[in-house]
Amino acid sequence: MTLDAESFSLLRASVQRFIDERLKPAEDILEETDDVPADIVSDMKEMGLFGISIPENYGGIGLSMAQECDVVYDLGHTALAFRSVFGTNVGIGSQGILMDGTEEQKQAYLPKIASGELIISFALTEPNAGSDAASLQTKAELDGDHYVINGTKRFITNAPRAGAFTLMARTGGPGASGISSFIVPADTPGISLGKPDKKMGQRGTKTCDVVLENVRVPAANIIGGVPGVGFKTAMKVLDRGRLHLSALACGMAERLLDDAVAYAKERRQFGHPIGDFQLIQGMLADSRAELYAGLSMVRDCAQRYDAKTPGKSDPEVSMLASCTKMFCTEMVGRVADRAVQIHGGAGYIAEYKAERFYRDVRLLRLYEGTTQIQQMIIAKQLLRD
Ligand SMILES: Cc1cc2nc3c(=O)[nH]c(=O)nc-3n(C[C@H](O)[C@H](O)[C@H](O)COP(=O)(O)OP(=O)(O)OC[C@H]3O[C@@H](n4cnc5c(N)ncnc54)[C@H](O)[C@@H]3O)c2cc1C
Repeated sequence: MTLDAESFSLLRASVQRFIDERLKPAEDILEETDDVPADIVSDMKEMGLFGISIPENYGGIGLSMAQECDVVYDLGHTALAFRSVFGTNVGIGSQGILMDGTEEQKQAYLPKIASGELIISFALTEPNAGSDAASLQTKAELDGDHYVINGTKRFITNAPRAGAFTLMARTGGPGASGISSFIVPADTPGISLGKPDKKMGQRGTKTCDVVLENVRVPAANIIGGVPGVGFKTAMKVLDRGRLHLSALACGMAERLLDDAVAYAKERRQFGHPIGDFQLIQGMLADSRAELYAGLSMVRDCAQRYDAKTPGKSDPEVSMLASCTKMFCTEMVGRVADRAVQIHGGAGYIAEYKAERFYRDVRLLRLYEGTTQIQQMIIAKQLLRD
């Protein structure tokens, strides 16, 4: 799946224009309202952003992973909450259906996901199952031709906006092989939402608990129609998501670096712009070199991802995606920290974006597998028989 080069360069140019002309000027609105303005969301739908990763025959734009990473890198140059509105449709919410769904499920859901008519969330994490997702406790019990689902999902991105969830629940015994992935419409009786989570950063993103009490879902809503393979689906989805987040981290690192360079040129101390001082130059240079390394990893790994068999996981590519996610998300943390330092006291003041982005990027090292989980995946592959 790939978009031809000419159409892709037109798309990318229009996304870049949208970021500069519409998103960057609205960054403060996110902070003030803790939401993304409705007119921006409708422009995103019109541009096709909800469907960039979905093939054209299901109503999407059909970008390759490498192309998606380029677009997401661009989107990283502004507040991360903008991308989050359609991030679950592009990534963790939709990809399970695309990779492992039946043709009927793909036809029923993907066109609505691609257009943005339906927001879809990914519900794996629970109060007692985070990094150890295979220990999840949400139960789905067969009753005739339906499953009855009970449990609580935690920190679910876009849950307050969602029309459906891809949701992992236990249909069998303990461990990963007892887990199935379901498509659960959000208006199914028995689903309720917790209060919105108050977060460290990324104002404008929405997360909350999803509580399921005797939620009846047709057995036909198991992704792919096969129980017991839902954990594998979830892991394949997360592999892919790790590259997407890595590209986002690199985009934000470049934005932070651009802001730091501009400040270093303008701010004067001791009769000179602070950019004249070698200690400041060292911080800028370290950030630039690390960004280059991160972006090179993203581009290399995305190409490897595109070269493997679609929908199948390749342990080597998964391991490299973990290396990339670990490096890029840690890297943007260091770049953000230096950007605050270069801004001096102003870096601690909300009026300057370094303060806000410093908080925003902290999440990237936590979700879709913490840095420690990436280390475990990398080491497991290195030490395998
Ligand atoms: C804003 C936000 C949005 C999110 N969106 C979603 C979403 O849309 N869908 C979804 O399903 N989930 C979502 N999550 C959940 C997220 O993926 C989890 O928070 C994350 O996987 C970590 O799980 P946990 O919070 O339970 O931490 P824990 O697993 O409790 O980890 C706590 C600490 O222990 C470390 N640790 C755990 N196990 C080990 C080990 N074996 N070895 C070494 N260290 C270890 C971790 O790295 C971490 O430092 C979101 C979270 C946040 C904060």
